[in-house]
Amino acid sequence: MKRRDLVRGLGAGAAVAGLTACSKQAKQKQTKTASFSGKPIEWTMVTTWPKNFAGLGEGAEYLAQLINDLSGGRMQVKVYGSGELVPALQVFESVAIGAAQMGHGAAYYWRGKLAMAPFFASVPFGLNAQEMNGWLLHGGGLDLWRELYEPVGLIPEPAGNTGVQMAGWFNKEINSMDDVKGLKMRIPGLGGEVWKRAGGIPVLMPGSEVFTSLETGAIDAAEWVGPYNDLAFGLFKAAKYYYYPGWHEPGTTLEALINKEAYKALPEDLQQVVTNACRAANADMLADFTARNNQALKTLVEKHRVQLKELPEDVLRELAKISDEMLEEQASSDLDKRILNSFISFRDQARQWHKVSEQSYYSARS
Ligand code: CA
Repeated sequence: MKRRDLVRGLGAGAAVAGLTACSKQAKQKQTKTASFSGKPIEWTMVTTWPKNFAGLGEGAEYLAQLINDLSGGRMQVKVYGSGELVPALQVFESVAIGAAQMGHGAAYYWRGKLAMAPFFASVPFGLNAQEMNGWLLHGGGLDLWRELYEPVGLIPEPAGNTGVQMAGWFNKEINSMDDVKGLKMRIPGLGGEVWKRAGGIPVLMPGSEVFTSLETGAIDAAEWVGPYNDLAFGLFKAAKYYYYPGWHEPGTTLEALINKEAYKALPEDLQQVVTNACRAANADMLADFTARNNQALKTLVEKHRVQLKELPEDVLRELAKISDEMLEEQASSDLDKRILNSFISFRDQARQWHKVSEQSYYSARS
């Protein structure tokens, strides 16, 4: 089925009216009384986020609520936070084997299993949120993502985006590449690989350990998300400097994982409900972050006296150079190479177009 058919699967007017109603209900944490009186199809959604965690965990809840409501109560998706049914990093296997029908997380967590998975979450100096959506939904990216997950019995869908993240929280100033040398930083995925090649020491740890490690000096720096999440997480209490921009995560796509057998067992209209609910949740999360980040940043700077700093230009240029060399080395199989080539050529054309559109407009507005 063509992607456009899926997107248009729901009657446009009904879908818009339904989504608007659902959006308000989910945000107000109200429960809709479903019109359906039979036995609903019950699905379990496991997530890599703490239950109801700001932005990300809420995004998973919103997605489940959308499926419940848009199906008119014929489906019921119950969300479990990380550690409630399975630990965060077992979400992928859990949905693949059908222990849960859905998962919510980010593809770069599966880099150890699939080297190219991070390309569908975020790549250092890669695509921003708008470009990720362009590549995935209309540039061939989602087809490649499906092909990558197909052998394990999973269907991926973009289901959220954080926008450009922050470079992170530091207790030491970064004035040149020399300051990166030996700096212990919590930074996962391909960003961590770049950090290592730049002479830093990337540390892998789940979110739950970040605060204490930073506060006790076990690590010198940590990246998490952006102001909205980081304020909620209290990271300003453990570090002095808040650096930007998030070169390592310029527009992170969150993913919904769907068990292929469970999906195939649904009637076609419910399949479209699931797919389109993911699309709606994908757009809603970016809107949520866009609406909240600046207020959170203001609170961090004005109330909590955080020192906001931009990474020096030469440091960013060097990190970009290392990143591009590293990207070339990630691909080994034929599929890997097709993913890499598709991503790189999309980035090239997005760079050209956004130079005359977004970039030019931002500088005119400033
Ligand atoms: Ca991050």
